[in-house]
Amino acid sequence: MATILSRSRWTSTPARGTGFNWSRIRGIVAHYPAAGKDIGVLSEAQEASRLRGWRNYHVSGRGWADIGYNYGIGQSGRIYSLRGNRAGAHATGHNSTTVGVLFIVGDNEPLTQAARDSFKALRAYLRKKGAGSGVWGHQQMSGASTRCPGPYIMSDIRNGRLSGGSGAATPGGGGGGSTYKTVNKTAPLGLYDKDPKDGHTRVADWQGDALGYTGKSVDGYFGPGTERDTKALQRQLGVKDDGLVGDDTMSAWEKAGKPKLGKSTPAPKPSPKPAPKPSGKVPGPGHAFPWPKGHYIGPKSGPDRSHSGFYDRAANGRTDREWIKEFVRQLDRRGWSVGKGKTYLTKHGNDGLYGTELGDLIEAFQREQGLTVDRLGGREVWDEAFHRPVS
Ligand SMILES: [Zn+2]
Repeated sequence: MATILSRSRWTSTPARGTGFNWSRIRGIVAHYPAAGKDIGVLSEAQEASRLRGWRNYHVSGRGWADIGYNYGIGQSGRIYSLRGNRAGAHATGHNSTTVGVLFIVGDNEPLTQAARDSFKALRAYLRKKGAGSGVWGHQQMSGASTRCPGPYIMSDIRNGRLSGGSGAATPGGGGGGSTYKTVNKTAPLGLYDKDPKDGHTRVADWQGDALGYTGKSVDGYFGPGTERDTKALQRQLGVKDDGLVGDDTMSAWEKAGKPKLGKSTPAPKPSPKPAPKPSGKVPGPGHAFPWPKGHYIGPKSGPDRSHSGFYDRAANGRTDREWIKEFVRQLDRRGWSVGKGKTYLTKHGNDGLYGTELGDLIEAFQREQGLTVDRLGGREVWDEAFHRPVS
């Protein structure tokens, strides 16, 4: 039996929103905060501080009545009542029919078993109240365009690790009572949205993919420079230049072929390329993922956990570049046509460096394997390549 910590454990502000009509609640939508780097297991005081930061961002930055999510779960396993059983603002079009649960976790950080167990206990409590049995990731909701809740939680959802049986949670554990003093303006949850109920798109993604920022310019903060360039891109796209990245801007940008700011010619659309035939075997040496959890093969401009092959870093006896080459060789062993003049890595070949071509290959592999498509070679992708039979 789990305990749901009362709202007074993290804020003295009152909860806002209309109470749920339980017969309409279809299930739970899982979210992550798009906070980037790993968060790990926090103390209750640290979790409470994060929650206050996000509430402040939602209320002051976005003009919502209250924090958008209904419940929060830390890697510690602690469950917090956020809006509680009142319609939230977490998934456009689904706020009065689903319960939004925020995992306090990094973008590429697997959930702890404690967090999973708490989710299951919370779900059992909500089911008792009358909620339906659905468990979805934010990205699965109609109308959503987001990576939320990230590859690890999505994998948990797809594999039923969040929907197994468990004891019931009960609300309780009141008392304590922290005072709402901390103001944290450094935790951006997403872009400013035209529709304030919209989901979160990561600012860093927008800066890199749409505004063409590289290196340190991709700071993940929607400051004045980002706003100015967003307006310029909006003019380029022929939509209202209000600096708000909402549905109109996103759909115009996608329709135009996702051009970068200042480039009138849209990015070339990758044409579907062939995937290999099944053999039912796992070829190759079966290497374990060489980097810490949460790390991945990704852009040079990414954070520390992004391994691009451009820097002189080494892990488990090989440089990043050698590991990336080994990963590509493994896809070659699995039957993918890779190398100069081949279907993938046509121009550069297997040079051990992350760029558009390697991104395309990883994307094709993710699609083929039914993984979350983010063009990054994280642990899930690695394990799929080295340990899953070719099917
Ligand atoms: Zn979300």
